[in-house]
Amino acid sequence: MTKVRFPPSPTGPMHIGTARTLLVNFLFARGQNGKIVFRSEDTDRQRSTPEFEKEILDGINWLGMDFDEGPFRQSERNEIYERHFEQLKKSGKIYPCFCTSAELTAEREEQKMKKLPPKYSGKCRELSAAEIQKFESEGRKPVWRFRVPDERIEFDDLVRGEISEEGKNIADFVIRKSDGQFLYHFTVVVDDADMVITHVIRGEDHISNTSKHILLFEALGAPIPRFAHLPLLLNKDRSKMSKRDESGKPATIERLKNDGYLPEAVVNFLALLGWNPGEGSEQEFFSMEELIREFDFRHVAKAGAVFDLERLNFFNAHYLRQLSAEKLAECVKPFLDFNIDDEAVLGKAVKLAAERMKFFGEAHDFLHYFFGEIEFETALFENPKMKVDRAKARFALEQSLPILEGVKNWNAEEIQKKLRELVENLGVKNGEILWPLRVALTGEQFSPGVWEMADALGKEKSLARIRKGLDKLKKED
Ligand code: GLU
Repeated sequence: MTKVRFPPSPTGPMHIGTARTLLVNFLFARGQNGKIVFRSEDTDRQRSTPEFEKEILDGINWLGMDFDEGPFRQSERNEIYERHFEQLKKSGKIYPCFCTSAELTAEREEQKMKKLPPKYSGKCRELSAAEIQKFESEGRKPVWRFRVPDERIEFDDLVRGEISEEGKNIADFVIRKSDGQFLYHFTVVVDDADMVITHVIRGEDHISNTSKHILLFEALGAPIPRFAHLPLLLNKDRSKMSKRDESGKPATIERLKNDGYLPEAVVNFLALLGWNPGEGSEQEFFSMEELIREFDFRHVAKAGAVFDLERLNFFNAHYLRQLSAEKLAECVKPFLDFNIDDEAVLGKAVKLAAERMKFFGEAHDFLHYFFGEIEFETALFENPKMKVDRAKARFALEQSLPILEGVKNWNAEEIQKKLRELVENLGVKNGEILWPLRVALTGEQFSPGVWEMADALGKEKSLARIRKGLDKLKKED
């Protein structure tokens, strides 16, 4: 039975990279009908908080993922660690090291002078019982080190293939600090062994830890899971993506949620960071179900995956356009800081806005002019490119007004028909009529088309705005 883990450290908001790793775990596990364990790796007592843990759990839920076991917390599992620690102690696979930090620094300095790579020498490896007792009687508290055997460690990474490392190049690493705290390498392996994890799927930054982990699994007599190391997330300039993305905003799930991205779009985008459906498939849009069905490690790239905000916007715009007017209205409301005086207008306006909006955080820019009173300078009527000056603008509004007043079935198609007839009858260019109307209806330079806009506003509001625009022009003449 396939079993994977979600092992975030709750030391900060949920990073986009963490979300991507969890997603790959989720897709793989669900595709194999396997199980997922949530494990909060909160051994860093200073930086871990229940609030961050909750934020991560909320993020998992928001993205449409779930898990089967947990939450487990490493801070609550000390007994288990003690038990395994005793086991390793008995078997002699770990040993106490009494070296002071001054001694370790001196050792490193010497290695540096000899142009050797810095590595703990193993000085305390063979301390006798008497020597240990002497240190203890001096009140020294040891750290505990793992006795790295002189053997070759090999594993077959699901993404990167065969990887090997020589034990002699790995220093005897610390698994427990002198204050009794267990360290990451140890807790992560004890937990993976105890929870019978079959697949460890994580970021490439953990690849150099894997040999140590394999040695610990062996020492504990536990089966060794398969490993898959996912390519790092990079900024567009190919530097490692850290706390912020190219826009300078926090690279967190919370921020994407607050900016008004849809979880379906984020999932689709994250899944394609370093994975593709394989040759012969041009498919770009995937639902969670499709991803679960399609995902496999054969198509995970080894090269770093570039986090491109434009691409996320592209996905989001796609998913946003699929939503019903009701759903769109519900989604944009939290982002609008003005009074929505007409729900019917909102229903049509959001559909128009959705054609150009990339995420809901932009909703204000695309919707504010549908509501309340619009403010603009009459200079906006002047458009030399369209050969419109104030006189022509006035003429256009004066001509359009009675035509529009006469429209019985107020809808975009009908309005368009009537205005096109007017343009034809007057023998002018489209822009000469449509530009002044756009300005009068929206007070904006960029907006949806005139008939869609008028349709959304409704007859009464549209006519009132045109009359008002006309008054403004007359007053200034
Ligand atoms: N808590 C570790 C992290 O957040 C997990 C590492 C692992 O998957 O082994 O990086």
